Amino acid sequence: MILSHPVSFSIHGIGVSSGIAIGRAHLVSNALLEVVHYQLKPHQVEQEVDRFDRAIVSVKENLENISRQLPENAPTEMASFIQTHLAMLMDKSLSQAPKNIIRTELCNAEWAIKQQMDDIVEQFDAIEDDYLRERKQDVIQVVERVIKVLLGHPSHAPQDETAQESHMILVAHDISPADAILFKHHHFAAFITDVGGVTSHTTILARSLNIPSIVALQKARDLISDGELIIVDGSLGVVIVNPSKEVLAEYELRQDQFELEQQKLKRIRSTKAVTLDGTAIDLLANIEVPEDVDAVKASGASGIGLYRTEFLFMNRRDMPDEETQFAAYKQVAETMQGMPVTIRTLDLGADKQMNPDLDSDCANPALGLRAVRLCLAEPQIFHTQLRALLRASHYGNIKILIPMLATISELRQTKMLLDRAKQSLRKQNIPFDEQIKIGGMVEVPAAAINATAFAKELDFLSIGTNDLIQYTLAIDRTDDSVAHLYSPLHPAVLQLLALTFHAGIKYGKPVSVCGEIAGETRLTKLLLGMGLRQFSMHPSNVLSVKKQVLQSDIVKLNPIARKILGTDDVEKVELLVSKINQ
Ligand code: PEP
Ligand code: MG
Repeated sequence: MILSHPVSFSIHGIGVSSGIAIGRAHLVSNALLEVVHYQLKPHQVEQEVDRFDRAIVSVKENLENISRQLPENAPTEMASFIQTHLAMLMDKSLSQAPKNIIRTELCNAEWAIKQQMDDIVEQFDAIEDDYLRERKQDVIQVVERVIKVLLGHPSHAPQDETAQESHMILVAHDISPADAILFKHHHFAAFITDVGGVTSHTTILARSLNIPSIVALQKARDLISDGELIIVDGSLGVVIVNPSKEVLAEYELRQDQFELEQQKLKRIRSTKAVTLDGTAIDLLANIEVPEDVDAVKASGASGIGLYRTEFLFMNRRDMPDEETQFAAYKQVAETMQGMPVTIRTLDLGADKQMNPDLDSDCANPALGLRAVRLCLAEPQIFHTQLRALLRASHYGNIKILIPMLATISELRQTKMLLDRAKQSLRKQNIPFDEQIKIGGMVEVPAAAINATAFAKELDFLSIGTNDLIQYTLAIDRTDDSVAHLYSPLHPAVLQLLALTFHAGIKYGKPVSVCGEIAGETRLTKLLLGMGLRQFSMHPSNVLSVKKQVLQSDIVKLNPIARKILGTDDVEKVELLVSKINQ
């Protein structure tokens, strides 16, 4: 008998983290959308009830496994989440009632539990208490787990989770940042999604996992089946499904070569980042959770240029209190042993919601009540964070960074609240760094155009190009349908960067870039030529950017950068930039 090879095909998307992974597809699905209704014959009913019972047992065992295998550094909330889900699963309303529906309506098990879920959710909707009402999301998540098992693509982790995951490729239609942060505790070989822009927060998290990642694959989730062998080429943005033996062999070779290059890069880990003309460059790292500090240290970065604290606020039922925040900030400050740790105040909103299931109901969330606007509207939340940051500043070299400033009055209000937090600590004799530096993110075009005013009143500036590009070009950073228009090399974006660099020079204030472009090696030379001396990026990019720095001569780059700044069309800019890198 001749066994035919499964059909091989490739899918193209946007590569957002390079490297090659070869492994089995692990589908993360929105199972609720897949539920269909079908009628059973009377003699099939008891079999269907059995199938339902087995699914409940399987989900129960899976949740118990996850609970046992939770890593020590997993967020404390995760354990209680899982316990709540277990209790809900075993409640009669979910583990028994659907069986009655199967028996009375002669319907399939998926349909029965979905009907039951809809009823429960309706009851939750009628509850007045916000907290309780939101618990309906837990019911939905538990039901989704059961349905996934019934549909034959369980999301359960294998017994020896870590060992097997290292050969599994996560395939999803879309993942919220709040869900993506949970994947930091897993060890997948690659991460691919149907949607997403190059600088969406889900992408940023995928990149920080330091595994090959591709977004905007359109229909990967539908085309790929669970368990299929796939190759992910993160550098080219290509996924090859069911590769032939020859293609597989070729990619195994390329994978070895890539890993060899990575090993070679490690040799410059402790080399100082100095250009050929002798200019010292600061290469800093971006982190999302305190555990990322290990990667920062391994990268040889000279400090943390951006700690995105909002991830501490996700996947929780309530706001983290002052002690919880203080412990996280202190841990990072202490581990960095005197190196700078730039901690950004809460930047929730837009695509970063506390809970993935709570969609923002505002029409333009990226233009809405997010970041510092939210903090100024909720001064108690801000006060708690500012106190926690100040207290932690006693244990290391902490700087405070304010996101999304657009007007000077926002800065002044923030400073007033910071003074109030300092005052409250002084009253209690709680020590903090009295000289703590405060910086502002330049990520709204208004702040870049008005950068001198901000440079005058702040200790440092940090350019958030992810948002700056989004707001300058009116391109939603999370929308893959306009991803091709999202260009850091648009002359308008470059002009705004130049304005901000000049403002820093005028007032003698350091300016860094902490958006994703700081880690893009093809842009390192241009940025150096334009005057940038501080880059903050994913730890995994530090060494390759350092390699560029070591090969750069700023004296020669300055006139080229001037020429680029005088060029008014993006295609010509692209050409000139590729020439600098030849
Ligand atoms: C940015 O906007 O460039 C930035 C660094 O902040 P975030 O990506 O978290 O919005
Ligand atoms: Mg931003």
